[in-house]
Amino acid sequence: MKLVFATNNLNKLTEVQKMLPNTIELLSLKDINCFDDIEETATTLEGNAQIKANYITKNFGYNCFADDTGLEVEALNGAPGVYSARYAGEPANTEKNMEKLISELHHKTNKKAQFRTVICLNLNEKQFFFNGICKGNILSKKQGNHGFGYDPIFKPEGYDKSFAEMTSQQKNKISHRGLAIEKLVTFLTQL
Ligand code: IMP
Repeated sequence: MKLVFATNNLNKLTEVQKMLPNTIELLSLKDINCFDDIEETATTLEGNAQIKANYITKNFGYNCFADDTGLEVEALNGAPGVYSARYAGEPANTEKNMEKLISELHHKTNKKAQFRTVICLNLNEKQFFFNGICKGNILSKKQGNHGFGYDPIFKPEGYDKSFAEMTSQQKNKISHRGLAIEKLVTFLTQL
C-alpha cells in the first residue's frame, strides 16, 4: 500500500519508513508532486493535522497522514500551543520564540510544559488520530545545541539534560513525535 506522509522533511520520512513493514511504501509530498502551500488555519493541533491530511486525500486521492506539534505551557494556559512556530510573530524565528517564552515565565515558579504531537491518518475512507505527549519543564537559559525549535529550553521530566543536549536517538525514544509515530506504526502494522 502507498501511504503519503504529508511532510517535506526527508529525515522524518526515512525514520518512519524504517519502522514500517515493507508492504507499506511511504511517499513524501514531493513524491506525489505536491508543492502547494497548505495553510494551517485551525485553532487546534488536531484541526491542523486534519487540514493537511484531508487536503492530500481530497486533491491527490491518497491515503495519508499528517502531524502537528505544539508546546503547551501550564502557567500560560497552554500557550503557545498550536501557535508555537510563530509565537514571537512573523516571520517565524526560533531564537525570538525562546526569548519570549523565557521572559513570559521569568516571574512564574511553575515552569511545567508539555510537547504534544497529533497525527491524523486518512485510511480507506476512515479517519484516525494518534497523540504523543512529552512532559517537562522550561529552562530559564538555553542549554545545548542539537535539535531544533524550543529544544534548548525544554528539559523532559526525569532527565537532567535539555532536548538539545541529547542525541536524536535519545530524544526520539521519549519525544512527543516519537511516541505518536510509535502508536501510528503499531496501528499500521496490525492491519
Ligand atoms: P511542527 O508542527 O512539527 O511544524 O511544529 C510546530 C512548532 O513547534 C515548530 O516550529 C517548533 O517551534 C515547535 N516544535 C515542534 N516539535 C518540536 C521539538 O521536537 N522540539 C522543539 N520544538 C518543537
